[in-house]
Amino acid sequence: MKYDLIVVGGGPGGLMAAKTAAEDGLKVVLIDRKRNITEINRACMQIFYTHKITGSPETEEGKARADGYINPVSVELLPDKCRFHFPVPGFSLDYDGNLLPYYNWIGLSPSGYQLHRHKPNNKIWAFFYQKEVFLAGLLASAQKAGAEIMPETIGMGAENTPDGVRVRVRGKSGEQTLEARAAIAADGVTSAIVESLGLNKNRKVMTPPFKIIEYEMEGVETNLPRFSLIRVTIPSLNPFGPVGTGLMAEGRVFLWTMTVGTLSPSTILEKFMKHPNFASWFHHARVVKKMAAGGGPGLRTQVREPVAGNVVIVGDATAPVETWIQGAVACGYLAVKAIEKELNGQKGYPEYINWWQKAFAFNDPHYWKVAGIFPINKICSDEEVDYLYSLFQGRVGCDVGLIANNLELIKEGRPELYERIKAVTT
Ligand SMILES: Cc1cc2nc3c(=O)[nH]c(=O)nc-3n(C[C@H](O)[C@H](O)[C@H](O)COP(=O)(O)OP(=O)(O)OC[C@H]3O[C@@H](n4cnc5c(N)ncnc54)[C@H](O)[C@@H]3O)c2cc1C
Repeated sequence: MKYDLIVVGGGPGGLMAAKTAAEDGLKVVLIDRKRNITEINRACMQIFYTHKITGSPETEEGKARADGYINPVSVELLPDKCRFHFPVPGFSLDYDGNLLPYYNWIGLSPSGYQLHRHKPNNKIWAFFYQKEVFLAGLLASAQKAGAEIMPETIGMGAENTPDGVRVRVRGKSGEQTLEARAAIAADGVTSAIVESLGLNKNRKVMTPPFKIIEYEMEGVETNLPRFSLIRVTIPSLNPFGPVGTGLMAEGRVFLWTMTVGTLSPSTILEKFMKHPNFASWFHHARVVKKMAAGGGPGLRTQVREPVAGNVVIVGDATAPVETWIQGAVACGYLAVKAIEKELNGQKGYPEYINWWQKAFAFNDPHYWKVAGIFPINKICSDEEVDYLYSLFQGRVGCDVGLIANNLELIKEGRPELYERIKAVTT
């Protein structure tokens, strides 16, 4: 066979897999449908998490509401670059782009009551980093180690053979079939490879398709601490999700929101910028770039065993929500290590499956019960959100976690609201 490994998809998971495999001496080809593989044209907050983020640290249910990759990752600042350390599973990556610290994660009600998702204690819980620069570093390392890169090539489906795998691809010169001893599906949330292998059949759809819009903005001025991630909950504006801001390099910020159905996320952002309580943030602001995300089938339950024959799935392709960039990278690394073991006659796939089941919060049995996408925006008015936030003002945790864990407090003050919330949380 021409290749040991075919990697479909050149996001963080696929690029890390190609780099790892090539550096370990495997003959690897990576295909991606994009022309410029590392260019980011989908919305992404580009947050690198250095702490586990909890829904509410007070109870097991609250803790389980954290999503994403749960193994700690750290950042080492060197004179001329940064180094990201992944103690589990055990590798480091250099990065030489911008880095900005996040000290606060603040939830705001319509009138400005605050909840803190992370204890405000001068400790950094995450960084903004540039995904494009990070991915470019992975691509350069993969190419340097000899990985073949095929841009503008779509993976259409995979089938296992007795001694390997065949992947059907379509590029500029037409269709062809690539063959290898193993393949990695890293083609993201709408993975054609996962679909072709039948792994989506038993996945339950949990939400309707959603739409996300993200504006990159200059000149936004809030009265909140500077290095903060902010989420504002205003049901009358967005009955599905929050409006948020996040950090970007060069003093810019992201402004984003998500919706379902016919509601336009851009309309929500435009209205938010004129909202009487928040318009002052935008007096000198200007939109520099707009990016979208979403579509697809909506959030689906995860695949618990992300290996099918000689194909290993990494990153978002079998996840219900985001694995995060760092989680996808860890998947890419470990998928290659598992494949190498199998090629040497050892059992690598059970280890990979076992790690997958433990490394992501969405595999916690509590996750769906608590995450259950408790619709605070849908069942509360603006005034009720103000009331709930004022009740927990200054506490640490996310709004739904604090509410679900303190129902008795709400019962005392607002029995009717308590009944409504109880009906959706139990
Ligand atoms: C709005 C939003 C904000 C986010 N913010 C953050 C954040 O702040 N921090 C964080 O860590 N994560 C964030 N994420 C999540 C993060 O982007 C993903 O978890 C991560 O990118 C998953 O990596 P992946 O390699 O599995 O897939 P992807 O990044 O989706 O990469 C898939 C790759 O496969 C290619 N591809 C797709 N289909 C095919 C095909 N059929 N053939 C060939 N190529 C194909 C695509 O072009 C792409 O390059 C965010 C996601 C969204 C939507």
